[in-house]
Amino acid sequence: MEFGGPLGVSFLMIFFPLLMWYLHSCIFLFDGQYVSPWTFLQNASSVIELFFPTTMSIQLYIGFTFYQAFTAYTCPGVIVKGLPVPSLQGKQLSYLCNGITTWYIDLILLVVLHYTNILPTQIWIQHIHGIVTVSILWSYIVSTIAYLTAILTQSTHRMSNNHLYDYFMGASLNPRIGTWLDLKMFTEIRIPWKFLFLISLSAAVKDHQYNISTPTANTLQPLAFMGIHTSAPFLFMTLAHGLYVNACMKGEECIPTTWDIFYEKWGYMLIFWNLAGVPLTYCHASLYLSHRAHTLHNPVIHSSLYTTILFIVLLLAYYVWDTANSQKNRFRMQERGTYIERNTFPQLPWGTLKNPTYIQTKQGNKLLTGGWWGVARKIHYTADLIMALSWGLISGGPWNEGGLWSPIPYFYVCFFTTVLIHRMSRDVNLCKQKYGDDWDRYCKVVPYTFIPGII
Ligand code: NDP
Repeated sequence: MEFGGPLGVSFLMIFFPLLMWYLHSCIFLFDGQYVSPWTFLQNASSVIELFFPTTMSIQLYIGFTFYQAFTAYTCPGVIVKGLPVPSLQGKQLSYLCNGITTWYIDLILLVVLHYTNILPTQIWIQHIHGIVTVSILWSYIVSTIAYLTAILTQSTHRMSNNHLYDYFMGASLNPRIGTWLDLKMFTEIRIPWKFLFLISLSAAVKDHQYNISTPTANTLQPLAFMGIHTSAPFLFMTLAHGLYVNACMKGEECIPTTWDIFYEKWGYMLIFWNLAGVPLTYCHASLYLSHRAHTLHNPVIHSSLYTTILFIVLLLAYYVWDTANSQKNRFRMQERGTYIERNTFPQLPWGTLKNPTYIQTKQGNKLLTGGWWGVARKIHYTADLIMALSWGLISGGPWNEGGLWSPIPYFYVCFFTTVLIHRMSRDVNLCKQKYGDDWDRYCKVVPYTFIPGII
């Protein structure tokens, strides 16, 4: 059993939501400073008052979820086969990958709803406190329905027969609604990243309106001329999250063969992180920026040089991350004969390798040693971590900006480093088991994990 068995997972199921409320309280009630758990508890009545769901927060979050499910079910897209599933006698499930179509529809709809004033984009950040609680409660509701449905329909898989542990790890492997709505893939791709982007965009729109009504020097001047008065850190976070969501949508066809979709079950662990944890924790930087600018009236301001360097770092790291992922995924798809050429935007140079070097393993698979995969074995993790650090640097700043400094914007990079190190060690163990001495041979050819010549 992982995560400390039934006792460990029971603790985590209480700890995760408390952590979310605690971190959000640190931003909004304690102006970006970590306080002791005791202070947090002493302020319980303020916390409850702040995070109590409003009718609008319920409508926004649940409406977003059902709207996403509707477009995921109905929009056209490419159909991709997953890996053979042993529990289904080697059957390969089909996945409808229409993420990119739904993403463009989302963007058009956002603009229409904003300019018609039906749903002004800043509304999401205005109701963010209630949304935090709704997302936590919703993840419990969805986990419970998923667990009971799997038991009632006898579609359980790899059960430990301890209810708490199975509730956490999941009971069903490939739950679906109809032919096309694969619930695990849907919650992994559509909700977290799109909602994260929505929060950052909402903060940026609020900043634009704030700067118009309260003119400050904190606007990126060239854009101000074009009628956009959002300050640079907000634009940075919107771009960073926009790039992330776009990457997930444009390369969605690579996801059905990943570990999460092929192996992990659909339980509280995945459901909580996808529906609540990722969108409402990874957004701390944007929330902190908004609290500083719009509540404390003390916006985060950097020099043009510092801001420009961070934009360049973000775009370079994104380039390495995107192309490293696509090189490996496309190499694997070509090997399996499932590769499909897509023209989704942007297709970056060096995203697909022609005749790369590789190691042929006795297991049958090939291990790529060309392209970025010849530089370091987890170079895409390094690039992802650099992007995460840049989110912190643009919203927190490395020093005391405007008389305030907060560690909150750096929570994501610290948390994410732990996640990726855990993921890496789990993956190395799996690959060692799978490829045996061929894996050791691969590690000799590509000796570094994260940074060539160093680690
Ligand atoms: P990887 O993309 O590293 O996938 C690992 C698998 O790839 C291995 O099990 C192996 O599978 C295959 N593989 C490893 N090395 C090679 C090689 N040299 N040649 C060919 N195949 C190889 O891991 P993740 O799925 O963890 O990460 C994917 C991306 O998602 C990363 O960029 C990561 O940063 C990001 N991510 C982001 C998260 C977030 O919350 N923001 C969370 C997790 C990941 P096999 O041999 O069986 O094909």
